[in-house]
Amino acid sequence: MPRSAMETRHPYGPTVGRLVDQLAGLPGIGRKSAERLAQHLLGCDRAEAMALAEAIRDVRQAVHPCPVCFNLTEDEQCEICRDSRRDPQVVCVVEQPKDLLVIEATGVFSGRYHVLGGKISPLSGVGPDDLTIDALVRRVRRDGVREIVMGTNPTLEGDGTALYISNLLADDGVQITRLARGIASGSVLEFANREMLADAMRGRQSF
Ligand SMILES: [Zn+2]
Repeated sequence: MPRSAMETRHPYGPTVGRLVDQLAGLPGIGRKSAERLAQHLLGCDRAEAMALAEAIRDVRQAVHPCPVCFNLTEDEQCEICRDSRRDPQVVCVVEQPKDLLVIEATGVFSGRYHVLGGKISPLSGVGPDDLTIDALVRRVRRDGVREIVMGTNPTLEGDGTALYISNLLADDGVQITRLARGIASGSVLEFANREMLADAMRGRQSF
């Protein structure tokens, strides 16, 4: 995200100011931490600082969305789509790749995933066409998917997105379920307890 508009002056000069701005734009990093990280990068070995810069650049060049499920991968298709032991006819729909990771960590789901890339959010200007919903519908029809597990976050927008998709698929004869409501409404999967999430997957209910 370009932050030039809000560039702050730094006593060492504008280049350091720009670094502090970039760091402060990261989640969980306030201005004080950003300043501390910048001081560290200026004081550490040049090689250490360059290794960090290269790691950031390389990861953005190497990692891309899987063309089937939109999970992130460095390969042509992601690990889960390539795993023939996983049931291609049961698909868990999640908002973001990080949601896939938390569900995957429970170890109780043996189907595949579909990453939407967000949720329908009229207030933020995100409509169905901004997500991978079309690709999901095509996939359901092509692969004869028999169950869609809605793993969207139990928030107003997450639920709305799940409802939109289930309406789209109403005539496709696919069973639509969702994670059991052990997860508090309004919370996000990312922070759900692993055991609770495993129970929610095992006890999934008709949508
Ligand atoms: Zn995939």
